[in-house]
Amino acid sequence: MPPIADYKTILHEVLIPEERLQARITELGQSISRDYEGRDLLLVCILRGGILFLTDLMRKISIPHAVDFMAVSSYGAGARTSGGLVKIVMDLQTDIRGRHVLLVEDIVDTGHTISRVLDFLHIREPAQVDVCTLLDKHERREVQVPITYTGFQIPDKFVFGYGLDLDEYWRNLPFVAVAKTGV
Ligand code: 5GP
Repeated sequence: MPPIADYKTILHEVLIPEERLQARITELGQSISRDYEGRDLLLVCILRGGILFLTDLMRKISIPHAVDFMAVSSYGAGARTSGGLVKIVMDLQTDIRGRHVLLVEDIVDTGHTISRVLDFLHIREPAQVDVCTLLDKHERREVQVPITYTGFQIPDKFVFGYGLDLDEYWRNLPFVAVAKTGV
């Protein structure tokens, strides 16, 4: 599908403006820096939605840390939903055995994606794996997943911007927006 020329035509409302996002990411970075002091931290970003969050968050983390990336895809569900079969389509390059891993995710919705990623990583015997998500649609949860750091709890609405796509576009917007229904 070709991109919509102007995101404003599909914008219902700005849910989280840039200033609130950045203020909360600063707080998260401070908490993570405190909590992981003295540990060898590896941030693992889940592509593609987590990219903007990762790059802002890592600039707010003051302790030494490494980064790596994984990509997952969901099958068996609509393009804008999840909960189908989650497949790992790109693996880490880092050996995580004995490492302190923090997963950096854009949004936890049903919980299937992060649950699958956690299972996949635990087999490799890291010292620790925790989850940091920018957004949490708690009322949509189908599988319980442990989340250590949450940016914002949000209602059950389809959001885009700040890493999250609307049919693969508009990830670059500096805020989190709600799309008009029926888009
Ligand atoms: P879960 O497996 O927890 O249901 O879904 C996680 C994935 O679904 C996210 O990483 C994201 O790719 C996608 N997702 C869930 N809700 C939304 C949403 O409101 N907007 C966008 N763009 N993606 C979403």
